[in-house]
Amino acid sequence: MEMGLASTGGCYAKLRAAKMVVAQDFTVDLNKPLVFQVGYLGEAYQEWVHQPIVSKEGPRFFESDFWEFLTLTEWWVIPLIWLPVVCWFVSMSLRMGHSLPQIAGNTIHYLIHGCHHKHPMDGLRLVFPPAATAILLFPAVYIFATASNLSPLHDCQFWNLVKLMSNPSMTPALFGGGLLGYVMYDVTHYYLHHGQPTSEVPRNLKKYHLNHHFRIQNKGFGITSSLWDKAFGTLPQTKSAEKSR
Ligand SMILES: [Zn+2]
Ligand SMILES: [Zn+2]
Repeated sequence: MEMGLASTGGCYAKLRAAKMVVAQDFTVDLNKPLVFQVGYLGEAYQEWVHQPIVSKEGPRFFESDFWEFLTLTEWWVIPLIWLPVVCWFVSMSLRMGHSLPQIAGNTIHYLIHGCHHKHPMDGLRLVFPPAATAILLFPAVYIFATASNLSPLHDCQFWNLVKLMSNPSMTPALFGGGLLGYVMYDVTHYYLHHGQPTSEVPRNLKKYHLNHHFRIQNKGFGITSSLWDKAFGTLPQTKSAEKSR
């Protein structure tokens, strides 16, 4: 029995010694992928990992370009990916009947949209004020600017594909195009309220939008076309269809 205990004790001692050997003999090669090396540091890992290397150059994690790509993240990817998810979850609560505290809900709605419903012909509170647009635009400008120069990912096949679709000289033009779309939307909205269109297409658009203000306010949100009302099922019924119900 005594012999047994002694030999067990000897075993532990050997194991401890073996661990020490692993820790003492193994050095991490910083020029090779790190993830599958650090385990071999054993107890020396804690000391190793808490000695910072302060450089903007990061280490390689994996041999494979695919797995390596999945571990690299630009900061703006976080709001870009997750803010739509946040909106989706919050809107799910609203769809399930939960409402914002009424004071906040009313105030936000009035500032963004309600003021235009209350005084639809007020020509100075119809288009979006540039100061507000600029605030909303700033993150988008930043995203476009950084997206043109994604240095840590420049070797990756996926990024080459993205670059091909939008090279740096094309990015500002794409951004300008998006902004032009907004300008066309906003001046069209103004025209639908204050213009006197004679040709058919703008006359129908005017009728369509005045419908949203004066007949069915929870349908017909389109300004330049009814395309998205068709897509989201918010196309208002025609007067004759409404009467036959
Ligand atoms: Zn309007
Ligand atoms: Zn409205």
